[in-house]
Amino acid sequence: MDECMKLEIIRNFKSRNIDVVFFEKLEEVKDRIMELIPVSCTIGIGNSQTLKEINISKLLMERGSIVFDKTLAESNEESKQIKKRSLLTDWYITGTNAISKKGHIVNIDHSGNRVAAMMYGPDNVIIVVGKNKICETLDDAIHRVRDISVPLNAKRAGYNPPCLKLNKCVDCKTDERVCFNLVIIEGQFVKDRMKLFIVNEEIGF
Ligand code: SF4
Repeated sequence: MDECMKLEIIRNFKSRNIDVVFFEKLEEVKDRIMELIPVSCTIGIGNSQTLKEINISKLLMERGSIVFDKTLAESNEESKQIKKRSLLTDWYITGTNAISKKGHIVNIDHSGNRVAAMMYGPDNVIIVVGKNKICETLDDAIHRVRDISVPLNAKRAGYNPPCLKLNKCVDCKTDERVCFNLVIIEGQFVKDRMKLFIVNEEIGF
């Protein structure tokens, strides 16, 4: 990432009350998260391939923090309860499907718990994203989440929507549909509630 692009991204997100920090390696993000969040805080975790790569839930739990991560649930009922409780945590950490250089954060969600927590509830939100998800414009970001993120996430979760074969969205109404919530975050009312950690690596999809 060149410096001009970084400055453009910082300026555009800052004008929307979102703090941006750049990292060279995902490992550095892990260290920053551990420094930033006090041990006594409660922490919600959004389902994210990016976060799984740094095993953040385990690390936070090992040091004594209370973590709500639905991927650690042993039953559907437990998963449902964890998703609800993660909406009222001190911190929420998640990945995202795409960002635009203009300052948008674009996500597509199945049940919507992740986007709900990003928008309101937790006092602080950290969003970790690799450089592969940086798009020029909002339209490009929406295109990315529909035509790239959804098929790959569907495959990972064991669903088989039409976009998996067609490599594009056909607004399906099948039982295999995995995208029910397309959410564009255009800014924050509370300054610096949301921190965007951008990593100079290709991570997740
Ligand atoms: S609506 Fe259906 S085809 Fe379109 S992205 Fe979602 S799951 Fe895929």
